[in-house]
Amino acid sequence: MLRRALFAAAILAAASLPGASLPAAAQGWPQRPVSVIVPFAAGGPTDAVARLVSEAMGKDLGQNLIVENVGGAGGTLGAARVASARPDGYTLLLHHIGMATIPILYRRLPYDPMGFETIGLITAAPMTMVVRKDHPAKTFQELVAWIKEKKEDANLGNAGLGAASQLCGTLLQYLLQTPMTTVPFRGTGPAMTELLAGRIDVMCDQTTNTVEHIKAGAIRVLAVTTPARLPVLPDVPTTTELGMPDLQIAIWHGFYAPKGTPAAIIERASAALRTALRDDKVIARFAELGLTPEPQERATPAAHRAFWEAEVAKWRPVLQSAGQYAD
Ligand code: ASP
Repeated sequence: MLRRALFAAAILAAASLPGASLPAAAQGWPQRPVSVIVPFAAGGPTDAVARLVSEAMGKDLGQNLIVENVGGAGGTLGAARVASARPDGYTLLLHHIGMATIPILYRRLPYDPMGFETIGLITAAPMTMVVRKDHPAKTFQELVAWIKEKKEDANLGNAGLGAASQLCGTLLQYLLQTPMTTVPFRGTGPAMTELLAGRIDVMCDQTTNTVEHIKAGAIRVLAVTTPARLPVLPDVPTTTELGMPDLQIAIWHGFYAPKGTPAAIIERASAALRTALRDDKVIARFAELGLTPEPQERATPAAHRAFWEAEVAKWRPVLQSAGQYAD
């Protein structure tokens, strides 16, 4: 008798869990390919992380994760697309630190910038300060002097307001108290094409996209924005060594789903992410690009949510004191 009552209570409790009304949708997910929206152009660092990790997750899930680039407006167009997608697990978002700065930079958005389910953190990418290969500055100090002399004649490429490159560029201009001319693109892919062609002077962007061009001698690196030197660029000084410790920034990336996606799908996607982060091919390629996979305990929905909220709190006073808004 008691056992039957407990059984009935357990069934009632399960029925009231979030997502319990959608067990059919969650069951056997995914049954067809999953679209992964990257809110920046193809050929950039967020795109590279997405393609690598999606391929490994697809192997674990038995379905392809297909990357779709929806670049523009500093990553807000792609995020808006996912915010309004059906919460059925077939549309996911891979975004970076912009998820924490967009809620501060944009006071009016057509979507709730915090209204997503978190799946897990993926990796944090260091940033590099790079210049066109024929730039006169051979050191970071020379670059600082050049920016102070040229002011708005110095141009800085970025991926739009809300992008990581824009955040790093904002910090640089703020610390130097010198505004430069910023040139926004739909992502680092097209911005890098311009830097390689010598039409952009300076960029601050993830190692994911810069390391191979630096090693090929196609662009010059003057600093890394990490507290310690990077194994992948051991000769490059850190901004801390160069006397600018406040220019320290790591670009974290995470996976999201539209709000209301069933918990069972989120958990399955998160488990696939953790498997992908243990994949030898992912680990080896990440190392070549200066990235480290997040530890397994951070590639979870709860750890990701807590970190995201802490990042919003961390960046709010910084961006507000720089007086930077997109609208
Ligand atoms: N690195 C870019 C940014 O500045 C975005 C990208 O193309 O991945 O946010």
